[in-house]
Amino acid sequence: MEKMLSVVLPAYNEEQMIQKTADTLHDILTKEHIPYELVFVNDGSKDQTWNKILEKKKVDPHIRGVCFSRNFGKEAAISAGLSQAQGDCVAVMDCDLQHPPETLVTMYELWEKGFEVVEGIKSSRGEESLVHKMFAKTFYKLISKATGIDMSRASDFKLLDRKVVDEYLKLPERNVFFRALSSWIGFSTAYVEFDVQEREAGHSKWSFRSLTKYAINNITSFSAAPMQIVTFCGFIFFVFALILTGQSLYMYFSGDAVKGFTTIILLLLLIGSILMFSLGVIGYYISKIYEEVKMRPRYIISDITKSKQ
Ligand code: UDP
Ligand code: MG
Repeated sequence: MEKMLSVVLPAYNEEQMIQKTADTLHDILTKEHIPYELVFVNDGSKDQTWNKILEKKKVDPHIRGVCFSRNFGKEAAISAGLSQAQGDCVAVMDCDLQHPPETLVTMYELWEKGFEVVEGIKSSRGEESLVHKMFAKTFYKLISKATGIDMSRASDFKLLDRKVVDEYLKLPERNVFFRALSSWIGFSTAYVEFDVQEREAGHSKWSFRSLTKYAINNITSFSAAPMQIVTFCGFIFFVFALILTGQSLYMYFSGDAVKGFTTIILLLLLIGSILMFSLGVIGYYISKIYEEVKMRPRYIISDITKSKQ
């Protein structure tokens, strides 16, 4: 008896892709004789995505669907999909076919060989605008430094063993970052390279604003490095202060004291900005703590397809 594969597909305004993705996966996985289920998670789409999922479910028994009460973001959708998935291994992929579905078969085979985590690694980033590319690059540089895990080519395209999924779901925090946490969890890992495909229909859901938010959110939920920047600034500043103390004392004793006025203004500005920046960073972490302490759920499900129909 072959082991079942669950595929989790977060979907936000993907009405054009549901049918197509389900059919493509059906063709590939049936040809390889891999028993599977597809778990579509409708992340509060504003279009007909949920209806398309329900429609498709009527004709295709492999399909299951979860519907959120509003848009909770891709991370939440992945969590919901993982907790609904019933397979012996669970893959997560985008529902716009940018993650090549053939790679799923390779991942499944590696999993059968005993790897518990199979990570998809981007060999190219596909077609993206220049600004998007630059921004993504900076974000990954920052987060790789901050977390100590090379994230520049990491993606959300992964296959996890049941054990790993259960560990992931046990994590108590609200703010999760799937891409980094799956390597934080550990287990024996294999890597598969894939080329990011062109989006077939619809358009990317990321705006500059949402990307910035995503970047800051994930960096702060994964590491305290920005807080250390504050400490570092403080240290540099202390060194400057020592030098300037020496200089002004010297000026004072040599009777030249008034000239230092410019220095004072500059110093005030510098201190002020560093203090405000530091307070901002600390405030951000406190708001994070506040969010976690509230213990709100990661998402709210408003509708879910019945398992037997
Ligand atoms: N997505 C989601 N919730 C969101 C934004 C995106 O579930 O708030 C899903 C989207 O439907 C797609 C995947 O996440 O399946 C990747 O999104 P997109 O293709 O827009 O991102 P890109 O490929 O440009 O990084
Ligand atoms: Mg995409």
